[in-house]
Amino acid sequence: MLIVLISGAPGCGKGTQSNLIVEKYKINHLSTGDLLRKEVANTTELGKEIDTYISKGQLVPDDLIIKILSNHLDTLCSSTTNGIILDGFPRTLAQAEALEKMMDERNTPTSIMVDVSVPEEELVKRLLKRGEISGRTDDNLETIKERLEVYHTKTEPISSYYKDLKKYTKVDGMGTVEEIFERITKEIDPLVG
Ligand code: ADP
Repeated sequence: MLIVLISGAPGCGKGTQSNLIVEKYKINHLSTGDLLRKEVANTTELGKEIDTYISKGQLVPDDLIIKILSNHLDTLCSSTTNGIILDGFPRTLAQAEALEKMMDERNTPTSIMVDVSVPEEELVKRLLKRGEISGRTDDNLETIKERLEVYHTKTEPISSYYKDLKKYTKVDGMGTVEEIFERITKEIDPLVG
């Protein structure tokens, strides 16, 4: 089974690329951001708690997101024969360790971590532009800055973790959607077949 992890700073385009990867490799997609926003939209007690973090640009606590993810993993694994792409998870070292353990226990180890790299200036530009149409409460300048800061301190360190596991690959996230997708498929293609 192909288990792809796609990572990168907010605005790097991982959601767009995930959709293309899903289509090409016929795998299941799970975006933790989408999952959390759905929970918020349902205005459950849990959703209200989650919203306090998202709207400030902070990460939802590890124990909470790990629990939510593990609840979805069995369904995800059992409804696919080809694989899964996780978009936005793991985002901290604790999440990475928990994920590796969960996937190993299910005999579906992670295959590759694709890190989509985009310069900070471009990220801010893209997110502000998205904010004009997305209606996302976290796409405003103040929250974007916080999300980038959180990305540098909490998420960036997981790249060395995946480098040590020899599963890490960095992809240039500048260019057209098609160009970036081609760079990604060059990394994934050798893993399928
Ligand atoms: P972006 O990559 O643009 O920040 P996402 O949709 O991936 O967008 O995430 C939006 C928000 O959802 C994050 O800022 C964070 O608050 C929350 N979130 C998503 N994934 C995780 C995760 N794995 N751990 C903790 N919080 C998360």
